[in-house]
Amino acid sequence: MTKILVINAGSSSLKYQLYDMTDESVLAKGRVERIGMDASIIVHEPTGREDLRYVEEILDHTAAVRVVLQKLTDPKYGVIESIEDIDAVGHRIVHGGEKLTKSMLINDEVKQEIKRLFDLAPLHNPAHLMGIEAMEANLPNVPQSVVFDTAFHSTMPPMCYMYPIPKVLYKKHMVRRYGFHGTSHQYVSEQAAKFLNKPLESLKIITCHIGNGASVTAIKDGKSFDTSMGMTPLEGLMMGTRSGDLDPAIVPYTMVKEELTVNEVNSMLNKHSGLMAISGLSSDMREITDNMDTDPNAKLAFDMFEYRLRKYIGSYAAALNGVDVIVFTAGIGENSVILRERVCENLTYLGVKLDPERNAVRSGEDRRISADDSKVEVLVIPTNEELMIARDTYRLVQELQPETV
Ligand code: ADP
Repeated sequence: MTKILVINAGSSSLKYQLYDMTDESVLAKGRVERIGMDASIIVHEPTGREDLRYVEEILDHTAAVRVVLQKLTDPKYGVIESIEDIDAVGHRIVHGGEKLTKSMLINDEVKQEIKRLFDLAPLHNPAHLMGIEAMEANLPNVPQSVVFDTAFHSTMPPMCYMYPIPKVLYKKHMVRRYGFHGTSHQYVSEQAAKFLNKPLESLKIITCHIGNGASVTAIKDGKSFDTSMGMTPLEGLMMGTRSGDLDPAIVPYTMVKEELTVNEVNSMLNKHSGLMAISGLSSDMREITDNMDTDPNAKLAFDMFEYRLRKYIGSYAAALNGVDVIVFTAGIGENSVILRERVCENLTYLGVKLDPERNAVRSGEDRRISADDSKVEVLVIPTNEELMIARDTYRLVQELQPETV
């Protein structure tokens, strides 16, 4: 019971990683992109061996799963002898709502609940369910689990998760803060405590998951206390193409002025805002920072991004009545030396002191970037959501079959 396949199914993509849990090593990973379009792209990367990339027509998720299983068992590119070697499958699920608050094995009830949440995560949950059903069709006898992005945040108190609007909307339509990137916030906070060799429960931690999607979480007693994403992943920080926080009155106002439909305004805020809208250049932080010395729009985009992140860190330091550790993670958090520098140079009032040399290193490993005399530990911890999903799945199947432990 050691080989765990982790699946992240999107509407037209399917990403996978196969783990050997005896040493938590990745045997292979890959992705199928453009599922259902004319030319699907398949990338399969067996660890330590030649990668495989090619184009083929793949009609749906069931066909995509079939291709993945073929690649994993392929005589040349495979890493296992037969699909029987796969002991369990773990699925990443964005929205678990209020009921699905921890990782669990899949059954009909769980699938029904994921379906009930389609309206809250229309881009994600339907795709995840397709991934689950495609796996069930291909591996009917293999246990499958689901791991939710929202689960870690289920410990938030009502003071943090309620919105100050008519309560009937919460009761009737589940309108509340759920928070996302939970698997990542949990992973990096646990890693941070390990790195510092201190009990997780003793630390006030602010974790900054800054990628294309970005969120900040305030963690105390090892639990999520508050987080910047809300009912959907649109709230909070400015992101690559998402607006993050804004005056809610802007929504009806622009809908009237520009005669926008609900879909159009949703698309504007989710796909045509953020770094992309302000820079007019790109949603990619590398392009923004490469151009910000010469392009005033790129500079404004960077400044707004940094300022909004810093404000959240400040407000979460207030929420926690102090902060012991700040963690940066995900694509931008792990790689952007300049963003971390700018954020931290304006957090001196909290006792943050960055060590510029430590900050400038790019190692891909957990590391401290604060100075030895900083009152707050500032760490860079590469996130690993897939490993968390593999660990949870492994634990669940072990509980299922205690005789194999
Ligand atoms: P996603 O939310 O899609 O998982 P990632 O966590 O992969 O996103 O982050 C993607 C972001 O990371 C992009 O904006 C990209 O520009 C940024 N990024 C990656 N490498 C660097 C780098 N060296 N410097 C600055 N930003 C980087």
